[in-house]
Amino acid sequence: MLLQSTVASEIRVEGIGLHSGLPVSVTIQPAPENTGILFSSSLSGLERGVRAHYTNLQKTQNAITIGNESFNIQTIEHFMSAFYAFGISNAVLVVHGSEMPILDGSSKQIIEALQRVGIRTQGAIQESFRIPYPIWVEENSSYLIALPADDFRITYTIDFTSKSSAVGTQTAHYVLDRDTFTESIAPARTFGFYEEIESLKSNNLARGGSLDNALVFTKDELVNESLRFDNECVRHKMLDLIGDLALIGYRLSGHVVAHKAGHAMDLALARKIDTVKKRKQRGSAIPRKILKRREMEFEKFKERVNF
Ligand SMILES: [Zn+2]
Repeated sequence: MLLQSTVASEIRVEGIGLHSGLPVSVTIQPAPENTGILFSSSLSGLERGVRAHYTNLQKTQNAITIGNESFNIQTIEHFMSAFYAFGISNAVLVVHGSEMPILDGSSKQIIEALQRVGIRTQGAIQESFRIPYPIWVEENSSYLIALPADDFRITYTIDFTSKSSAVGTQTAHYVLDRDTFTESIAPARTFGFYEEIESLKSNNLARGGSLDNALVFTKDELVNESLRFDNECVRHKMLDLIGDLALIGYRLSGHVVAHKAGHAMDLALARKIDTVKKRKQRGSAIPRKILKRREMEFEKFKERVNF
């Protein structure tokens, strides 16, 4: 039985927003059971805060933005990924700014801060859901599939050959636990392409981006001095996927297979998994005919995408 947890004491993080380029400071505070991850502009106005949940999603383009009528917060995924990997169910994040700090472009410093203060186990049970049958989303040549499994594992493939031969095709597979995340996924930095920087900046994106917080690739080489891993880009996509799926609000067990996915697709899968969970909770048995049809659809899908 899994129990909920929170940070053992307050963490303070400062930096700049990747897209806004503006300074931001954040305190991560312990929170009571069943709070979830709550972002707020002040401790006294928590009722106006926004819970990290896919129903509060405002934007998925280039980064995840959640919000309500009084507060919104951009680029939460690297924090959400670290919280999910460390099993943190409850925390209040007081943010002075409208975008989470990008730090070094990865979750490394967030993990180090979590390790420094420690994690406190709470009394309430942590909700979880086991993927019961294949659930998938697809768009053009991209797809995401969640398959039944007893742990949480990810197999991810990217193909950026057309943008940079230095990124090309990369694959990674991990069974997610705290140590694997810390060593192999958290340090992987976000990345972008030199040719796209100007157009991103003119769209008010990547204004805080630099070689200190992102990997930049030209058509054929890396602009930064070095990589942390040969396949750092696919590992970062994995980091993002974990943070995006965390917006479902409970633990998952399943094998997620991702092929050229991104934020919008990650969230579409989260939504679909949650629909399946709700249907199962209602206890409505699925007629054999529908099960059979779903199996056939999955077979067709696998053939189509060559899975
Ligand atoms: Zn990212």
